[in-house]
Amino acid sequence: MALSNLRRGARDHGVTLDDAQAAQFERYAALLRAWSHRAGLVADASDAAVERRHFLESLAFGAALREREILRPDSTLIDIGSGAGLPGVVLKVAWPALRLTLLEATAKKTAFLAALVEDLGLGGVRVLTGRAEELARDATLRGAFDLVVARAVAPLPVLLELALPFARIGGRLATVKGSRTQDEVAASRHALDVLGARCVTFPLDVPGPRQQVVVAIKLRQTPDVYPRRAGVPNKRPL
Ligand code: SAM
Repeated sequence: MALSNLRRGARDHGVTLDDAQAAQFERYAALLRAWSHRAGLVADASDAAVERRHFLESLAFGAALREREILRPDSTLIDIGSGAGLPGVVLKVAWPALRLTLLEATAKKTAFLAALVEDLGLGGVRVLTGRAEELARDATLRGAFDLVVARAVAPLPVLLELALPFARIGGRLATVKGSRTQDEVAASRHALDVLGARCVTFPLDVPGPRQQVVVAIKLRQTPDVYPRRAGVPNKRPL
């Protein structure tokens, strides 16, 4: 087994992986290695990096959300800027009843995601190519999800504008941030007001630099003008 610490590491976060799930993670790591150069998926596709940085950190994130009932076994979940499927596909392998949508702007990456979903035999997963600013206008996606997740996609004020339109009222956005979490939260006050959300943070129990989970709960319908057109949230954050 190339991922020698995965099951033990998952167990430390309270997640039990059976043989079939462990085999899915092995296959996922092999496909990441095979596609990484072609699709620019992850900076480091070595087994050690994939196991610790990508799989175990995503499992720790999922476990923290499960513990607080923010993630339920059959939640409708959308992963924005999913890239190589992180964290969405990791969560789906660990909690197979999730109804998952993977949204990613780059077609090369969604080609990988479609191949990955097929290869791992994952049911109830949809892969969408496009920008969040545009797909948030689709009536079947807007306000449709219990939970929106995103990892390493944008600074918090920008991410709130991209992500909250997809959440139902009472639904959440959850993401992970590093040492500047409190600054990002402070800089998000106006975005939270305008978008109708409130946010909390808690520590993520992973080795290495301190990480925090940020959860924004959607209290009201997002005004129709948000998200603004593609590129504007990044250029002129709320
Ligand atoms: N979430 C993955 C991870 O943690 O490895 C990928 C992170 S990568 C740094 C950011 C990804 O977000 C890229 O694949 C990029 O194409 C995608 N992305 C950025 N802005 C986006 C947008 N507005 N709509 C959709 N995808 C976006």
